Amino acid sequence: MRNRFVSLDPAQRGWMDDTPSYMPPIALGDPVRATTVGTVHASDNPDFRQGQWVLGLNAVEDYSVALPGGFTMPVDVGQVPSPSNFLSVLGAVGLTAYFGLMEVAKPQPGEVLLVSGAAGAVGSVVGQLGKIAGCRVIGIAGGADKCRRLIDDYHFDAAIDYKGKNVEALSAEIARAAPQGADIVFENVGGDVMDAELLNLAKRARIVLCGLISEYNAPEKIGVRNLWQVLAQEATVHGFLISAYADRFAEGGARMAQWVGEGKLRMDEDIQDGLENAYPAFMRLFSGANTGKLVLRIA
Ligand code: NDP
Repeated sequence: MRNRFVSLDPAQRGWMDDTPSYMPPIALGDPVRATTVGTVHASDNPDFRQGQWVLGLNAVEDYSVALPGGFTMPVDVGQVPSPSNFLSVLGAVGLTAYFGLMEVAKPQPGEVLLVSGAAGAVGSVVGQLGKIAGCRVIGIAGGADKCRRLIDDYHFDAAIDYKGKNVEALSAEIARAAPQGADIVFENVGGDVMDAELLNLAKRARIVLCGLISEYNAPEKIGVRNLWQVLAQEATVHGFLISAYADRFAEGGARMAQWVGEGKLRMDEDIQDGLENAYPAFMRLFSGANTGKLVLRIA
């Protein structure tokens, strides 16, 4: 397979740690595991023909070899503006938002949904799906520009800039936006941001634990200190992994494609060029430089 677009994801940072996880760590010297979209260069399998577009779990590399038992599937690029869309809104990232919110949290009209990492690939879709479900949506993101985009581009009801704020100040700002507390917290960040959210839970809140990006690259993990709020508010914390929904990707993808087609859902892609730029491009995730789903274009 000739890779054309490579997905750069926070999860790859976790795969570089030799700690128990849902996948084995990437071995030293191995190429960095990544989801890619590209074309079949040559095939010994009659189910795949040369030139056909496919999606697979491969690596950050020009060419990948797909083996039986691995994950490779054809994609219909004729229906989308760019094949990279299968790494963003129509791929695992969009489906993380879809299944994490719609299936795990089950939002109800009028509920308050609080999303961290809100201007990012997953968070921006979670917020838009929350609006489709009739929620009041509050997003937490880094910087005035991202907060403006939450309101103008993704139609959140409120946006909070976490930068330069301690837990107390951030908590006070969340309380102003959600005086009755959050019914649903969609957690992408962890650390201080999550500590401030925990101080603003509604009774029996549902917390979807999707990611903890503030911890991935930190030399010292600070963890979460306000966990007692989970029992004080009788909240539920649900650890979520998109891979658990792999057999329902077609169903979720069809729903997402419908909303995209109706103009109800947008996703911005941050396309960086060149295999040689993989490392600085990847680090955009941890400085917050990426605006939308981070993708490396290598052809
Ligand atoms: P994003 O597009 O959201 O990019 C990462 C963003 O995280 C940055 O732009 C930055 O935004 C924010 N960030 C980075 N470092 C910090 C920090 N120290 N403190 C606070 N915010 C920080 O990435 P994704 O949408 O792909 O991923 C979002 C989360 O979803 C991740 O935690 C990821 O692991 C998780 N995820 C989980 C899946 C699952 O199956 N459980 C599947 C896919 C993703 P800002 O400028 O606002 O700080």
